[in-house]
Amino acid sequence: MSRYVGASCRLCRREAIKLYLKGERCYTEKCAIEKRNYPPGVHVDTRGKILEYALRLREKQKLRKIYGLSEKQFKRFFFMAERKKGITGTNFLVLLERRLDNMVFRLGFATSRKEARQLVSHNHIMVNNKKVNIPSYLVKEGDAIAAKDKELLSVKNALESVVRRGVPSWIELDKDNMKGVVKLLPAREDITMPIKEQLIVEYYSR
Ligand code: SF4
Repeated sequence: MSRYVGASCRLCRREAIKLYLKGERCYTEKCAIEKRNYPPGVHVDTRGKILEYALRLREKQKLRKIYGLSEKQFKRFFFMAERKKGITGTNFLVLLERRLDNMVFRLGFATSRKEARQLVSHNHIMVNNKKVNIPSYLVKEGDAIAAKDKELLSVKNALESVVRRGVPSWIELDKDNMKGVVKLLPAREDITMPIKEQLIVEYYSR
């Protein structure tokens, strides 16, 4: 499946939840979920009973859209999680959190994951003092992630608003040096998004 290039807000309205795909706008009253919290499209039936399959599908789509991945990339991460020891659903969420584009977003170097992915692929991010331009690169405990150009305006501006979003407890941000360290890999309770990962496991196990 190719990458979705339509309006991001439609995705949130489809899932009836804020997915925070548009950076600062998501925190303002301009957010489409605040203004039009009903599914997009003309002929919308909101009365129907949600079937089990649809429930699992929607949960899967919600998580996939949060991280902005194609179905192929998303599935690859799921099967990687399945091969690991432990609970598949938790492994899956942790793997997604470990992606470099997500880390750049979590550290506040970008206002959205989409912007973070662009920073990574345009060679603006260093991991342990080495340039890494692969958004799906998985960070490890102890890795140091830094912006290459300390004068980059987009990173400076994004860092100004990181306070509102907050930095997760498992990473440490050195805002002045535009640098962050992965103190620990996240545990399930550190991932606070409203996701029922068991439904996604059931979706792929059907
Ligand atoms: Fe979603 Fe952000 Fe658009 Fe609101 S502004 S609907 S949170 S993408």
